[in-house]
Amino acid sequence: MQQKFKKKINRFKKIKLEGGHYVLDFINTVEGRDSDEFKEQLFDFLDVLAWCRKVKLLSSYHIKKLYQRAIKNQEKAEKCYKSVIRLRNILYEIFNSLAENKEIDDYSWFIFNKRLKTALYHYKLIKKNHQFKWGFKAGKNPLQFVQYPLLKGAAELLMDLDLKRLKKCPMSDCGWLFLDISRNNSRKWCSMETCGNRAKAQRFYNKNNQ
Ligand SMILES: [Zn+2]
Repeated sequence: MQQKFKKKINRFKKIKLEGGHYVLDFINTVEGRDSDEFKEQLFDFLDVLAWCRKVKLLSSYHIKKLYQRAIKNQEKAEKCYKSVIRLRNILYEIFNSLAENKEIDDYSWFIFNKRLKTALYHYKLIKKNHQFKWGFKAGKNPLQFVQYPLLKGAAELLMDLDLKRLKKCPMSDCGWLFLDISRNNSRKWCSMETCGNRAKAQRFYNKNNQ
């Protein structure tokens, strides 16, 4: 594999995953959506592949195949990248609305279901020595495979979701969504190490500068 892709893989090795579910981690590949400190992690299709590798969303076999296709057809890869970013926006609309106890807008819900239908169509069950796992049917545009586990995973997460456990980090330059699995459902920040500590430092500073 190209050096450039290896560098991307190494960059994603270092990122922290705090969402508690890979669909939320995918939504969290943007920080500070509502602030000037907007930070993007996915800049092109190879970033998306490197992220999929990090969260083990696709097998290494599929990652290698998709990488080769993306290198061969960069125009298609760019198109697919844009489609992945649109999917991330739709998933954000849905899960952010739920975290903020708001209605999910009809348009996002319509697009989500439309894409989900396509995703589910591409799944098949594979059997090997009486062991079964999900696989993909061949499709016209295999680069889209990266979206299918995200759509299927989002549907499964929605069905199993305990709404009071879905939270949004209140730090304005973060805004990550996460599942609070603490025993007393008391987690406030995406992570105590990052946003929690920053909030603590801010409170300390404000107290001493009043
Ligand atoms: Zn945070």
